[in-house]
Amino acid sequence: MRVAVTGTPGTGKTTATEHLETALDVVHLNDVIKEEELYTERDEARDSLVVDVDAVREYLDGVDDVLVESHLAHYLDVDVVVVLRCEPAALEDRLSERGEPEAKARENAESEALDGVLIQAVENHGREHVYEVDTTDRTPEGVAREIDAVVAGEREPSAGDVDFTGYL
Ligand code: ADP
Repeated sequence: MRVAVTGTPGTGKTTATEHLETALDVVHLNDVIKEEELYTERDEARDSLVVDVDAVREYLDGVDDVLVESHLAHYLDVDVVVVLRCEPAALEDRLSERGEPEAKARENAESEALDGVLIQAVENHGREHVYEVDTTDRTPEGVAREIDAVVAGEREPSAGDVDFTGYL
């Protein structure tokens, strides 16, 4: 089984996946991208890497029983996609507290309000493989329990249950 845990930056993917009980191997893709240099260039202005998605796909080719955590994980070949969500104003606060520039925090909050990652996940994998988890009022441990429940087959697929458009 291959599982993607995706979501707008700041939804808590890195933190929640540190608390999982699943037997799957957990891959924090950002670390792998840096270690294995799976990027085409460094975008100095945005302080980010331009990820080579084909190289990432190749790196994970044939790897089974894995859970990949990344805001790009829904672009990979997986069986199940968990999309972490967060109310945009709370997301903006989380990103500011993490030390991100105001413009970046705002940009990600707007993207979250517009359901960007959720829409891409449904487009790429179909609604029947997508599981949305609202992290806004959950602890990282609580979010991890929800992800574990999806992996264990204890949850029904869900997409579009939250409405964050009030932020816009
Ligand atoms: P991501 O990996 O999705 O970019 P992080 O795990 O880095 O997100 O979390 C972003 C920030 O929000 C961090 O500062 C983290 O401490 C905080 N955070 C993560 N999960 C939660 C949560 N469930 N509730 C409140 N704050 C959280």
